[in-house]
Amino acid sequence: MKKLEERILQDGNVLGENILKVDSFLTHQVDFSLMKEIGQVFAEHFRDTGITKVVTIEASGIAPAVYTAEALNVPMIFAKKSKNITMTEGILTAEVYSFTKQVTSTVSIAGKFLESSDKVLVIDDFLANGQAANGLIKIIEEAGAEVAAVGIVIEKSFQDGRSLLEAQGQTVLSLARIDRFENGKVVFREADL
Ligand code: 5GP
Repeated sequence: MKKLEERILQDGNVLGENILKVDSFLTHQVDFSLMKEIGQVFAEHFRDTGITKVVTIEASGIAPAVYTAEALNVPMIFAKKSKNITMTEGILTAEVYSFTKQVTSTVSIAGKFLESSDKVLVIDDFLANGQAANGLIKIIEEAGAEVAAVGIVIEKSFQDGRSLLEAQGQTVLSLARIDRFENGKVVFREADL
């Protein structure tokens, strides 16, 4: 997605070896018009595939996921990262190691929001080593539902996430694919959408 790549080049900051900071439009402050376009691009691709739910993980997946869900006219569910006393029954969980926080946490979704007849599109802001997406896939499969595909806003293609997911037979579609960081600058490879 050309517009997203341009925004990454304009506002993204490379931190260290392998982190991209995009807090001015995606992970902290949110550019709703860009998020809406992102949602429309994902929705356009999946329009005729019978998606019934969009699932993401809090917090930074929520913005692109909610616009994708709006454009597909289906509910969006976000997995919660911390235990919540209001979630009392039928909780589906998975352990997820956070690439940026370097801690393992239990993420959960209330089972009542996923049915075995659901066809789910997983959306996340970043794909690094695939742990977040993998945890979501486990939860969705625990519910007996089907994962249609994984839609990623920014994929760091030099990390293992895509191969981990594809090895499980998942389809990964990324709007921006970062090939490498070179002298603190982002170098893209061809994106999927
Ligand atoms: P994974 O689980 O694929 O290793 O990492 C994906 C998750 O880690 C995303 O949900 C995102 O929150 C975070 N993440 C991974 N890499 C980056 C990055 O370069 N920048 C930011 N801001 N978040 C990242």
